[in-house]
Amino acid sequence: MTLDRRSFIKLLGSASAVALAGCAGAPMVSAMPEIMPKTGRRVVVIGGGYGGTIAAKYIRMGDPSIEVVMIERNDHFISCPFSNLYIGGVLKDLSPLTIKYDKLAANHGVKVVQAEVTAIDAAGKMVATSKGRISYDRLVVSPGIDFRTEELEGYNASTPEIMPHAWKAGPQTLLLRKQLEQMKDGGTVVLSMPLAPFRCPPGPYERTSMIAYYLKQHKPKSKIILLDANPDIVSKKGLFLKGWKKHYEGIIDYRAAKKVTAVDTKNMAVLVDGVEDIKGDVINLIPPQRAGGIAVSAGLVGEDKKWCPVNVTTFESTIHKNIHVIGDASIAGAMPKSGYSANAEAKVCAINIVALMNGRDTTELSGLNVCYSFLTNKEAVSVAGVYKVADGKIIAVPNAGGVSPDLSELEAVYAESWLKNILADMST
Ligand SMILES: Cc1cc2nc3c(=O)[nH]c(=O)nc-3n(C[C@H](O)[C@H](O)[C@H](O)COP(=O)(O)OP(=O)(O)OC[C@H]3O[C@@H](n4cnc5c(N)ncnc54)[C@H](O)[C@@H]3O)c2cc1C
Repeated sequence: MTLDRRSFIKLLGSASAVALAGCAGAPMVSAMPEIMPKTGRRVVVIGGGYGGTIAAKYIRMGDPSIEVVMIERNDHFISCPFSNLYIGGVLKDLSPLTIKYDKLAANHGVKVVQAEVTAIDAAGKMVATSKGRISYDRLVVSPGIDFRTEELEGYNASTPEIMPHAWKAGPQTLLLRKQLEQMKDGGTVVLSMPLAPFRCPPGPYERTSMIAYYLKQHKPKSKIILLDANPDIVSKKGLFLKGWKKHYEGIIDYRAAKKVTAVDTKNMAVLVDGVEDIKGDVINLIPPQRAGGIAVSAGLVGEDKKWCPVNVTTFESTIHKNIHVIGDASIAGAMPKSGYSANAEAKVCAINIVALMNGRDTTELSGLNVCYSFLTNKEAVSVAGVYKVADGKIIAVPNAGGVSPDLSELEAVYAESWLKNILADMST
């Protein structure tokens, strides 16, 4: 733990204050009632999203004699991929993006516990949850992201209710769409995106496209200003610019190198670089990010205090033994923070956990990622990458990926097929 206790508690709130106490004082975790006494070899998985569900399922598929307990705070999961289509009015509701965990249990014997993980005791190999403590032989941590809101002056607990991020799919996604629906025609939407790295590099540009799509259909006198903290568009630049010119001339106002440093919810304004006030009728404020709170409070983040360093073959933390970190929370070299990457990382992590628990050789990562982005209700673009380990780092295999040649309806069909398959992989 390198963050000082006071700023840490302020940062993460009371739930994580418990986590901090548990992490600093292992006895606090062991003093809790044990809810699932361990009888054999056990892997505990934290998080039932893109990474956690896959790790849980594939460990059971690799060795059914290993007990797998997956702990998730919610009784369902809503996918961020395709949530921008809901915001753009293309999807009626979030039901096509929602999965349950019953089949992971029925088909694979994964034991699903709905609870909040509040602390990890790495030395004692146990986690504290809102329901009691659970022991493990190995732990997989896939908690996704949380926000570095302390970097935004004026941001407090109620800010996302006024300026939603909608960067975790669910109530925030519903709120942003509702705000767009309630906005007057002729209004201004402001979207603020942080410096990379963040969850889903093309996501904010797809979000901008889908909001522009909504405005064009329903509020044609309105516009959207995209405040990009980065010096330039970080993903699929040529394709996004082409699509915006084709469909949204005069609707999208892209501004590079505009880092929001403060928020003023009373006046519905954001402050760029501490000087320039920009007002919006709707403000979609996506704050800078770090690994999910539990990874931070357990001391799994590296010197940057943001992301978790891992062994690139096994995804075992380089800080705490027997704990593996996958998905957005991990530092996976050239692999982007995406659902597809989380799925690939979870599979190689699962194979290697099974190997390590059975005294077998580990397998090196061969990873794949494709990220689709919609520009309209029918047209999409994609970027693909293939990844391997070289000199202890995950690198992109040269000339093995690239972007789609143009905007196309076929890419949209591929995207729908991708979503259907990956959600089925997570839930059946
Ligand atoms: C708008 C948007 C569009 C996107 N589009 C794409 C796309 O098209 N393709 C793509 O590949 N990726 C896309 N992504 C990125 C993708 O959603 C993430 O990269 C992916 O979800 C990461 O998986 P994860 O397992 O790390 O985290 P998540 O999928 O977020 O799962 C984390 C889970 O852990 C749970 N959790 C966290 N902490 C605790 C705790 N303490 N106790 C109990 N449970 C806990 C959470 O409730 C959550 O269910 C998009 C993201 C956004 C925001």
